[in-house]
Amino acid sequence: MAATIPFKKELEFQYGVASELSPSIRRVIAGNASSFTLHGTGTYIIGRGEIAVIDPGPYDEEHIDAILRETAGETITHILVTHTHSDHSPGAAILKKKTGAKTYGFGPHGSGKPGMKPEQDGDMDFVPDVKVADGDKIKGAGWTMKAIHTPGHLSNHLCFELMEEKTLFSGDHVMGWSTSIVSPPDGDMVQYLDSLEKLLDYDHKLYWPTHGPAITDPHPFVRGLIAHRHGRIDQIRECLKNGPMGIPSMVEKMYTDVPEYLHPAAARSVYSHIIMLVETGEVKTDGGIEVTSTYQLA
Ligand SMILES: [Zn+2]
Repeated sequence: MAATIPFKKELEFQYGVASELSPSIRRVIAGNASSFTLHGTGTYIIGRGEIAVIDPGPYDEEHIDAILRETAGETITHILVTHTHSDHSPGAAILKKKTGAKTYGFGPHGSGKPGMKPEQDGDMDFVPDVKVADGDKIKGAGWTMKAIHTPGHLSNHLCFELMEEKTLFSGDHVMGWSTSIVSPPDGDMVQYLDSLEKLLDYDHKLYWPTHGPAITDPHPFVRGLIAHRHGRIDQIRECLKNGPMGIPSMVEKMYTDVPEYLHPAAARSVYSHIIMLVETGEVKTDGGIEVTSTYQLA
């Protein structure tokens, strides 16, 4: 059985209006609610006076205007981007144009896996002004952000630690309401699990994810996410015990509690676990390692 993760659903906010989360952290949520973004993209504003913005969100003038309205009289000096999904980075272009602030990110879409053609649902236009590597520190007025490279959800995913508060902006790597989507080829289950383990090396007090409420018990929560994935791997082993099976049949068996319209996303997730099992030699396939292939225990 998969481990259960104690997601907390409550979140108080008003669209277009900043919520103050700590003296140096504010958040404005974009109006792009969906089954993948929950209430919408949470854009974080760091500091006072001279400030950083984390994940300006989708290409949405209204959302950027809300951020500018909420920070009137202040100067945006840095635009930080966790990764290049279309609900996180495209707004950076608008915000940069209006403020002149430099953008910071790991690199363009797919840049964490050189030579691989990334999935198409990313922001293919984003190129950071400043490339940020694992461990880099970005200093602003009264705040310091440490970048932690956390590939898995996407190869160019960064989490940002507000060092003064030991608070982590976890992007889509660790979310407050759902498990992250890990969709190959740019999404990678082995890297994702490694990137979860990596967070256990830090003693962050609090995570603010892009979607959903704060995570106030980071280590048990992250361990729960790791256990959840191992639970999925056990379910796949269970499916294959009785002979060869394709991914759609596994999804039927494994995701009985998930509505059917989310099954294609679930199939990508099972696929990411299968790739891992094929790489470790536990599972094999006669064809290529595709979503449409049939798999069996090796
Ligand atoms: Zn994402």
